[in-house]
Amino acid sequence: MVERLIGAIEAGGTKFIAALAREDGTILAQERIPTQTPAECFPALAAFFRTASDAFGPIGAFGVASFGPINIDPASPTYGTFTTTPKPGWAGARFQDVLGQFGAPIVVETDVNGAALAEWQSGAGQGCTTVAYTTIGTGVGTGIVRAGKPLMGFSHYESGHIPVPHDHQRDPYAGHCPFHGDCVEGMAAGPAIIDRWGKSLSDLGSPADKIELVAGYIAQLAVSLVLLHMPDRLIFGGGVMKTPGLIAALRRATEQRLAGYVRAAQLDPGLERYIVSPALGDSAGINGAIALGRQALG
Ligand code: ZN
Repeated sequence: MVERLIGAIEAGGTKFIAALAREDGTILAQERIPTQTPAECFPALAAFFRTASDAFGPIGAFGVASFGPINIDPASPTYGTFTTTPKPGWAGARFQDVLGQFGAPIVVETDVNGAALAEWQSGAGQGCTTVAYTTIGTGVGTGIVRAGKPLMGFSHYESGHIPVPHDHQRDPYAGHCPFHGDCVEGMAAGPAIIDRWGKSLSDLGSPADKIELVAGYIAQLAVSLVLLHMPDRLIFGGGVMKTPGLIAALRRATEQRLAGYVRAAQLDPGLERYIVSPALGDSAGINGAIALGRQALG
């Protein structure tokens, strides 16, 4: 029997990870490619997959977990195309243009949907029907997976841009989002923290008052996820979430804001089992892309 191999791409803001993997997830070859323009990245991707495929065998499917905004609707003629990204050269770029030459099916998802799928399958979301994976890092985004399927509407969700209550007395910062100012990303993502206080929360020594403030904004997103999707578990990752004490503050703030309204076995007192860190760490991205490729294999 010919082995069916998966071509996987984790497309991030600073780097691409490309991998050739077995269906069981074993990575046979891997390469890191800096995120420059598509004119530079795409030929490097093609060269990697060509060489890896020559060495290990034909590629049966591709899974791509990418930064966005990107069209992830398989029914759309522009499926796999970057839309309004401010990243130079990427608006209008399309993964099919580089991967089409291999003649294999291609699944394109957002990076957070890929990570949510990987965590659901083999990480902190195991055993859940619905799991929400949120990253609080350079940006803020959420992927929601239900029974192994990433959810979307006419486009992927944009949880990072929900408005949050903003006490200007307590936090005079206007916000970092070029569209909304003080949305959750504008108030709680890494660039907002550095713009506001000059350093990351960890580098500031994890001061309790600032952690409480940031946790409050993120809790607003957590509460919204509970109310809109009723996930069995919320996973919060990304660089900002590595701040000591932040996840504990997020659990307290979320429980306080839910105010006892939603009662379910999933919502344990203190939310220690409900709001958790990712189990796959930095490998969630490429594992998510492999999982997407596995789905494309059928
Ligand atoms: Zn915004």
